[in-house]
Amino acid sequence: MSQWQEEKRTVLEAAQKMSASGLVVGTSGNISLRLPGKQQLIAITPSSKHYDLLSAEDIQIVDFNGHSVEGSLRPSMETPLHIGIYQARKNINAIIHTHSVYASAAAVAGREIPPILDDQVAFLGGEIKLAGHALSGTAEQVNGAIKALGDRSGVLLANHGAIGTGRSMRDAFTACELIEKTAKIYLLALSTGKINLLPPDAIKAVKAIYDKNQSED
Ligand SMILES: [Zn+2]
Repeated sequence: MSQWQEEKRTVLEAAQKMSASGLVVGTSGNISLRLPGKQQLIAITPSSKHYDLLSAEDIQIVDFNGHSVEGSLRPSMETPLHIGIYQARKNINAIIHTHSVYASAAAVAGREIPPILDDQVAFLGGEIKLAGHALSGTAEQVNGAIKALGDRSGVLLANHGAIGTGRSMRDAFTACELIEKTAKIYLLALSTGKINLLPPDAIKAVKAIYDKNQSED
């Protein structure tokens, strides 16, 4: 049995939960987990496989050069995106890429989501920026997403979807749910014709909670 069995199960369970909760349809989206140790490896969902048919053995182990270490399927097409984010952000241990409806709608409308809610700022770190459109798996996509993500935990990909990150898989999942909830509220509020941003002092106070959680070991 693989020495990464537990980590593969964590990715598998998150993938099934993502599919069941409607954050993706079909085979879209992908999930990865940084593996412990100095080897710089990740466990990631395979390309083009329906989540209900997925088993722990289907989760691929890949090194930071994108080379397969364990598993016989093709890793997700967006593996470079995951590796790029892990390299840029040492405090991220899990990444979930979804095509959730409201986040994608904001990304289609070309809308970045300003700081509008306390939980958005406390958990995602503030605004949800929009990375410009780029083809999946390209360096342009990787660099654009890393830049737009900054030190926060959520980002939108133009005409595509969203990425949620976290120190754990649970946190990354919550990030994806919060991105979706925030996008939904933002688009609904926009439809009334008026948006009130959080006051700057509130943003500052709640951002301090986020920063503290990010820096804790
Ligand atoms: Zn995608």
